[in-house]
Amino acid sequence: MKADLHNHSFYSDGVLSPKELVMLASKASCDMFSLTDHDTTEGVIEAKSQAEKIDLSFISGVEISAFWKNSTIHIVGLGIDINSDFLQSGLDFNKSLRKDRAEKIAIGLLRCGIKDALEKAQNISGGHMLTRTHFAQMLIQEGYCKDMKSVFRRYLIGKKPGGVSVEWKSFDEVINWIQSAGGKAFIAHPFRYGMTRTKIRQMLIDFKKAKGDGIEVVNANSSEDEIALGNQWSIEFDFISSCGSDFHGWPNQRIKIGDIKELPNPGKAVWSYL
Ligand code: AMP
Ligand code: MN
Ligand code: MN
Ligand code: MN
Repeated sequence: MKADLHNHSFYSDGVLSPKELVMLASKASCDMFSLTDHDTTEGVIEAKSQAEKIDLSFISGVEISAFWKNSTIHIVGLGIDINSDFLQSGLDFNKSLRKDRAEKIAIGLLRCGIKDALEKAQNISGGHMLTRTHFAQMLIQEGYCKDMKSVFRRYLIGKKPGGVSVEWKSFDEVINWIQSAGGKAFIAHPFRYGMTRTKIRQMLIDFKKAKGDGIEVVNANSSEDEIALGNQWSIEFDFISSCGSDFHGWPNQRIKIGDIKELPNPGKAVWSYL
């Protein structure tokens, strides 16, 4: 089974259209594909109809920002009904937080002499949802930094000029948005939050208490060690395991749709539960 259940289109911070993503997944011989844009399901209908045309199994998805102990944690929702009013009102709440944050980021950048940041980032997002990635792309284009990594580090986190903290909703609420829409909730890329393994485990304990369903065991950057540990946690907490590349289609990225290592324990794989 080749499944890629974590992908972004230009409806959030990806580059390609939902249709183009589906075609790439098919070209990569994926058996199952999910679109999981940040805090929006706007691309799902397009992706689903393209997947139906070419007979690719499609899972409706979303990646929702949540808050745990003052850190932003991403929760991937899979198998959601995008017509759920409760889910959509949750996503609307996150969109409004993003709008406020974008305005604050622009004010912060202006203080260090970077003008019209909001308008320029909006041009890059094409009027779709604004993410920090759009500010990052803008700062690279304008020559302030050479790559994504340095631009986040120098401008978009913590006490840096465009660093703005956002109080997303807690695990309980975000999990509830997803599950009331019939979906399953997964902690995305557990090793990407800069936490120690002890702290990740603590997060998983709280996620389990909040009735979360699972953990993303494999993404495009996962090492063998991380996959083994993710799998071990999946067993320990009786979680479902998910996998996805987290493809955005940005230039200079080696990540490809469908190009991920295999889930070690297919018996716990998400596709048996959707
Ligand atoms: P946002 O959800 O608007 O805060 O943007 C978060 C997105 O920015 C993530 O999904 C990543 O795609 C990207 N991102 C966050 N931190 C970094 C980083 N340090 N380097 C590169 N990309 C990052
Ligand atoms: Mn992203
Ligand atoms: Mn993420
Ligand atoms: Mn993602």
